[in-house]
Amino acid sequence: MRFLILSDIHANWEALSAVLHDAATRRYHAVLCLGDIVGYGPNPNEVVSWIRTHADVVIRGNHDKACSGVATSESFNSVAQCSSRWTREELHEDHLQWLLNLARGPVLVEDFDLVHGAPDDEDRYMFHEHEAETGLRYVTEQLTFFGHTHVQGGFIGEPYRRHFEVSRLNVLPNQMSIVPERTYLLNPGAVGQPRDGDPRAAYCIYDSTMRIVEFCRVTYDIRTVQEKILERQLPQELAFRLASGD
Ligand code: ZN
Repeated sequence: MRFLILSDIHANWEALSAVLHDAATRRYHAVLCLGDIVGYGPNPNEVVSWIRTHADVVIRGNHDKACSGVATSESFNSVAQCSSRWTREELHEDHLQWLLNLARGPVLVEDFDLVHGAPDDEDRYMFHEHEAETGLRYVTEQLTFFGHTHVQGGFIGEPYRRHFEVSRLNVLPNQMSIVPERTYLLNPGAVGQPRDGDPRAAYCIYDSTMRIVEFCRVTYDIRTVQEKILERQLPQELAFRLASGD
């Protein structure tokens, strides 16, 4: 089975469209979404509508919670709060209801897990090895996909006595095999707002039969998204950061 894994789309329709076009050439059977479907971007209704229709498994992200009212946006900075308010007003009522009822991770698919932030806390970031090490203590499966940091890559843990020796995937191989006796926390990267220095939309394909993960990047029409962000009077920082990818 080949899975298209999407995270942090953030209402960026142009990035999602480019990813779908690119992914079609690689073939997949099911779509998995790791949350943060909305927030920041200018097309929340279009993106939610596509995910509702096409995604097979979806878990919620912190922005989905804030925009739908499951959680407050108190912990957000002013830019995120502003986009969260705008998104809430913009979203159709039935899309809001759907976001409100999204599952919390971890959610098991075949023999791997999906989480938004970390295995132990859906809102916790795993940027660094020590944060991944904590997460690895809670995993029950060999492979977990996560999002939230908007950084493509992730971590590999090798069990050592009572803890894990954790290494980060710094230089990404395009294709990576899942090998026995290691535990993986892998991030497909952000479709709609990459923050790893590469502004191209990020996603991955996981082939669960071959046990191979393919990390992919694709260019998209950033300028059109920037224009929409400014037209809708969302904070201009949201437009600028798409071009820098950080
Ligand atoms: Zn996000």
